[in-house]
Amino acid sequence: MTKLTPLTEEERAEKRAADREYTKQAVEALRTSDGWRRWLATRARFHRYSLANQLLIAMQRPQATQVAGFKTWLTLGYCVRKGEKAIRIWAPCPPSAKKIAAWKAAGANPDDQPRTYFRLTNVFGDDQVTELPPPAEPQPIACPIRHIEGEELADSLPTLKRFAASIGSTISLEPIAGGASGYYEPATKRIVIDSTLPVNQQVSVTLHELAHALVRTDHQDDDPKLDYASEELVVESVAFTVIRSLGIDADNASIPYLAAWAESADLSVIEKTAGLIDRLAKRLEAALAAADTETSPANAHDDVEHSAGTEIHVALAA
Ligand SMILES: [Zn+2]
Repeated sequence: MTKLTPLTEEERAEKRAADREYTKQAVEALRTSDGWRRWLATRARFHRYSLANQLLIAMQRPQATQVAGFKTWLTLGYCVRKGEKAIRIWAPCPPSAKKIAAWKAAGANPDDQPRTYFRLTNVFGDDQVTELPPPAEPQPIACPIRHIEGEELADSLPTLKRFAASIGSTISLEPIAGGASGYYEPATKRIVIDSTLPVNQQVSVTLHELAHALVRTDHQDDDPKLDYASEELVVESVAFTVIRSLGIDADNASIPYLAAWAESADLSVIEKTAGLIDRLAKRLEAALAAADTETSPANAHDDVEHSAGTEIHVALAA
């Protein structure tokens, strides 16, 4: 082991700049349709993570379904394989007890309070580990796979109806003539879903129409302006990533083709659009999770990042 020498202030600043640059590359990947889809599919498995970390995992290890630090994998009954390259994601570093004690001793001035900062740390994906031999008892890490034609998500419909009511919308299920699977009427805030669809698909369409309703009720000053095409991209991206987070192996062919928009858009607009999608999707996921706490998969990543962290807009912040 080499002895760790503390970095100088200059080295620290250099490292921070390099870390930001690395994250910026992950945002750049959103410029292509492939990169966009890779993010949404990765996001479905890592939706409790900040946008920045979803993008970093999508760039480095899109096939991972779970990530954890080296030691956490050991406690879960797995060992990282020799030679595996770590995935770098942002993790919070709270101030040390020593720092806090020193701050208190110096008068506890609120302006000088030691802060939690974020730095890139090493984690590994579930595809980079092997089970430890007995007596270790490796915990299962597989996710359920369900099909869009199935009906496992029947319980989600009443939950989504309650969520719709909470934002002033209604959902009704009825046969729709003419081939549409669902629609949202902005004037009445009414959502109609085709009742002849398979149940899982009804949920998928409901998520899409609810996202249309959400875009209109959950607006923040920093959100990008949406025209018809970009609103469709946002709501379809939300529906796709949320339905995948419910274990549905949904096809993403319906996500509107991105290239024209993303190739020319400013990187900050792309990041803001992704941020809006992440925020709206998290609201739907929170509503679904609150109604369904028992079936949530184990969260091996909880040591890396708690639900906080949505504030890590490191990519473009100077
Ligand atoms: Zn739509």
